[in-house]
Amino acid sequence: MIEELKQLNQFVEHWEEAVIGTTLEGIIATWNSGAMQLYGYSSEDILGKHISVLTHSGTSENVIKAISNIKEGKYIPIYNAIHQQKHDNLIHVSVAIFPVKNDSENVVAAAIIVHDITEYKQAQDMIDALMKSSPVGIYILQRGFFQHVSQQFVDILGYSEQEMLRTESINYVYSEDRDKVRANAISALKSGYCKPYDYRILTKSGELKYIMETVVSISYKGEKATLGNFMDITELRNTQEKMRDTNEKLNLLVQKFEKQNQMNSILSEMRDLLQSCSTIKETVPIIISAITKLFPKTDGALFLLSPSRTDLESVAKWGDFPEDVEENVFAPDACWGLRRGRPHMALNANASPICSHVKNASNISYVCLPLTAKGDVLGLLHLRIGLSATEYEKQQLNTDLKDMTVNLSEFLSLAVANIKLSENLQSQSVRDSLSGLFNRRYMEETLQREIQRAIRKKSSVGVVMADIDYFKKFNDTYGHAAGDMCISNVGKLFQQKIRGSDVACRYGGEEFVLLFPDSSIEDTFKRAEMLRQAVKELQLVFQGQFIGSITISMGIAAFPNHGTKVDELLRTADTSLYKAKQEGRDRVVMNNNDTGVS
Ligand code: GH3
Ligand code: MG
Ligand code: MG
Repeated sequence: MIEELKQLNQFVEHWEEAVIGTTLEGIIATWNSGAMQLYGYSSEDILGKHISVLTHSGTSENVIKAISNIKEGKYIPIYNAIHQQKHDNLIHVSVAIFPVKNDSENVVAAAIIVHDITEYKQAQDMIDALMKSSPVGIYILQRGFFQHVSQQFVDILGYSEQEMLRTESINYVYSEDRDKVRANAISALKSGYCKPYDYRILTKSGELKYIMETVVSISYKGEKATLGNFMDITELRNTQEKMRDTNEKLNLLVQKFEKQNQMNSILSEMRDLLQSCSTIKETVPIIISAITKLFPKTDGALFLLSPSRTDLESVAKWGDFPEDVEENVFAPDACWGLRRGRPHMALNANASPICSHVKNASNISYVCLPLTAKGDVLGLLHLRIGLSATEYEKQQLNTDLKDMTVNLSEFLSLAVANIKLSENLQSQSVRDSLSGLFNRRYMEETLQREIQRAIRKKSSVGVVMADIDYFKKFNDTYGHAAGDMCISNVGKLFQQKIRGSDVACRYGGEEFVLLFPDSSIEDTFKRAEMLRQAVKELQLVFQGQFIGSITISMGIAAFPNHGTKVDELLRTADTSLYKAKQEGRDRVVMNNNDTGVS
């Protein structure tokens, strides 16, 4: 027995750690209680045997080589190996081999310290297996550097394990999310755990991926570390986003549908009400009420063609539609919608020409809906987006108006045209059947409207009252039927000679009233003279026989010269007519006092 080994064995005999002494040939010379515990052999069993009985088959050269290195004075690092127990059980061990020297510093034997690491090794294998197979990415970080990265982690990021190990983890995090990730890592180190949170990482190919991660603090190789595990939630997020998108679209569709429904019910209510209207005048409040419901936050006006057919006049307004005369009365030509016979939209001021009836148009988005029937202009619905509308409301109105105007225009045109038709049927009661001229009631209503219009337009209206001279005598001479024929012929003549915007009516018996919108008193006088002359030249033929001719006397009045009221003007005209009769008939007279014209 080598003396030095004997001394060593006395020292370590009762250690729990296995300490085996061998000769430089590998023969076991000392065996402590730790070795007995670990391998199951008693001293009697093992002493004198070669160390290779303890190694797993085929690995004995490691220990033999280590001992021979010791002989040469080389340093042997600790190494891991698989050893065999008495009953062939395999154990994982870590092995440390030290030289045993004599007093003259010669290596005389080897001391082998064996530590059982089987449990540790199993745990290690389990972790490795987990790291390889886990569907979540796992990593271990120390001081911000990767110490371990699992296969899944490598797959998600696209870098190899070699590329990632010992690199700084924060570099893989998308720059905008770095602060968040740092804060979470710090909190995990402090409290040992952090709640799952998400952030974005940049893959090797530059792709942005969403990650859901939890971090716990662990001890790794004797130092504090963090273990992170995370999942790639990119697809999940994309699906969620897509779903959100789809949901939003669906919501919009439902909203649109609901709105459409609401609009349809407003329209159908309007249609019902319009059907029971017998005059255009009655339709106005119904149309306005529906339009303001359909398009809140708009200003606008409904225009109808004036009786003279020369102008559109506002008959109702809503919102902040201006009072400005030029915006309330204008010629059909001033509107692109009326010119072209279809809705004109100037919702984007730069893109469309602006109608000249729209003043101060710089900030105005509007729509003009012409109301027409078989090409005949009946009126105009003008809608503009109110200045009080918010940007969102403006956009909403823009779409609504675009969506609805064509339909609305056709729909209103039809409704208004129907009423116009029944008004025309009714108009037989506004016309006198013998002369074909308007009756007195209609003339008075028209005069009333024309006065209003002239007030707005600062223009004038001429009124002429005419009476056939000596008609009683005519009747007496040629008979009542010839008298009727005469009245009818005079009516036709008037109708031929006046302008489209003028109104001729049979006032009663053989008396007539003519209205000349936009005619000054002088002009009216001249035109009355022309008519007087024409009547005088009329060749009356009755039952194939020439029955001579007639003359008429006329009295004139004009707005504003002789008053602002219907009866004032008619009275003045009548007074002048009386004067004409007095002065000898077959003449036109106007009241000189008011005008200074003779
Ligand atoms: P003056 O020049 O002053 O007007 O004389 P006048 O004879 O025309 O007098 P006045 O205007 O008072 O007479 C109207 C006459 O017209 C009375 C009536 O016999 C006749 N008359 C009124 N309506 C009709 C009608 O519908 N048909 C016919 N044939 N005669 C009518
Ligand atoms: Mg008469
Ligand atoms: Mg008369």
